[in-house]
Amino acid sequence: MENVFSELKGKTVLVTGSGRGIGKSIAEHFAAVGANIVITDIDEATAATTATEIADRYKVQTLSVVSDVSDEASVDALFAKISETFATLDVLVNNAGITMDGLFIRMKTEQWKKVIDINLTGTYLCSQRASNIMRKQRSGVMINISSIVAMGNPGQANYSASKAGLLGLTRTLAKELAPMGIRVNAVTPGFIHTPMTDKIPEKRREEMVSHIPLGRMGKPEDIAKAILFLATNSLSGYITGAVLEISGGLTGL
Ligand code: NAP
Repeated sequence: MENVFSELKGKTVLVTGSGRGIGKSIAEHFAAVGANIVITDIDEATAATTATEIADRYKVQTLSVVSDVSDEASVDALFAKISETFATLDVLVNNAGITMDGLFIRMKTEQWKKVIDINLTGTYLCSQRASNIMRKQRSGVMINISSIVAMGNPGQANYSASKAGLLGLTRTLAKELAPMGIRVNAVTPGFIHTPMTDKIPEKRREEMVSHIPLGRMGKPEDIAKAILFLATNSLSGYITGAVLEISGGLTGL
């Protein structure tokens, strides 16, 4: 096969929450095949450093924007900047996400709302604005980062509900947007080594790894490679509304 990713060269890719972790790795993988990248993060320095690093290393155009996906005005400002800078928006990866864990009986409403607002409403806001651009182009791809925890996990009622919600949103958008030339898919990562999982105590991490059939934690690039596949029409052009599990065989935590 020729370079299957050559169709992504010069395309515009927005990865939310891409200053670090899985989002940063996804941004790097798209840049490595010549795509221009919009880096967003809630921290200005993190977004700017990552955008400069990627532009220097891969010689692509990057745009760094401080944006909170849960804030409608902030998302509107983000999309206005994208339209001022780039002629198209070809790929949206809804990656920004947080955890605020706690047992359900003690969960505070604030804890519930914050996680739903960022993980689920943030994806709704970005997807709606992206679909308005993509439907005019009659092409585009959206990929939502859910989690195997969508199946339920003690201590993560808010996170699990948000990630399960993303699966319903993915399948619905796939059906609504297909006639406009837009594909929408989701991935469900398992236990991936990032600043998010660094917060988990070492002993608990070791115990979780012992349940992974492939015997190791995932790496951010394990997710990024699957995202590249789902963004490439020549490889996945007939896939929409799908959920791809990337977990080393782990089906629950
Ligand atoms: P991470 O290292 O904590 O990175 C999350 C990124 O999202 C950070 O860059 C963070 O910015 C940004 N962010 C947080 N709140 C935001 C907001 N309101 N608006 C915009 N950006 C925001 O997490 P990760 O492990 O890479 O996770 C990335 C995605 O994968 C998340 O959706 C997560 O739920 C999902 N996932 C992770 C795992 C795992 O094992 N790691 C497993 C399944 C699914 P700051 O750096 O400024 O905080």
